[in-house]
Amino acid sequence: MTMNHYLIDQIDALLPQTQCRQCGFSGCRSYAEAIAAGRADINQCPPGGQQGIQQLARLLNIPAKPLNTAHGVPKTSRMAAFIDEAMCIGCTFCIQTCPVDAIVGAAKQLHTVITAECTGCELCIAPCPMDCIRLVPAGAVPMPDRKETRLRHQSRLQRLDHTEPVQAEQPESASPPPSAALLSTAAERKKSIVQAALERATALRSQTTTNQSSTSSR
Ligand code: SF4
Ligand code: SF4
Ligand code: SF4
Repeated sequence: MTMNHYLIDQIDALLPQTQCRQCGFSGCRSYAEAIAAGRADINQCPPGGQQGIQQLARLLNIPAKPLNTAHGVPKTSRMAAFIDEAMCIGCTFCIQTCPVDAIVGAAKQLHTVITAECTGCELCIAPCPMDCIRLVPAGAVPMPDRKETRLRHQSRLQRLDHTEPVQAEQPESASPPPSAALLSTAAERKKSIVQAALERATALRSQTTTNQSSTSSR
């Protein structure tokens, strides 16, 4: 089936580029494609809220409708991810997850969020084995520019295209569940990273305790 790229571009331009997947698709572009093809409704994007629905309705010349809250509700204020660097073990899971490359860091080094580029999509929170990422108010830092965020997301996808097998776009709900073997490998990997970090922390603690007791016995 041929896609109407002009229409998809117009729809995508109205979407927030948060890339949060709450609409049920792998990103704003996929959702735009689904709307253009009549495979998705216009009220599935919580970050876009009612204003976004009205803009889509105007573009498509169809009636607006209320947000489908089964997909979530809009945030009431600008939030961004924050990493407690004292807890970070440098596993890189968050970097691998961030759809807009808003996290910097390297393996076994602490990671940091670039607040000005973070859309607050929350996708990095669940994969963190140390539970050291949380959303915090972004203060005066505005939401990142939509066009720049789209470009960062596209360049990430292109980079992944060169390193990972390409998969057909599907609604998240229609994606087959990961196999038990894959889940168990990921869980094992997470477990061993956390275990290693805990062992390092225990060793550090006992070293500190030994140092303190040898100082106090002098
Ligand atoms: S729900 Fe998230 S990913 Fe989907 S269109 Fe809205 S901002 Fe983009
Ligand atoms: S840092 Fe986390 S919350 Fe921010 S854009 Fe990346 S994945 Fe989303
Ligand atoms: S997922 Fe958590 S522990 Fe791993 S690098 Fe990111 S912040 Fe650090």
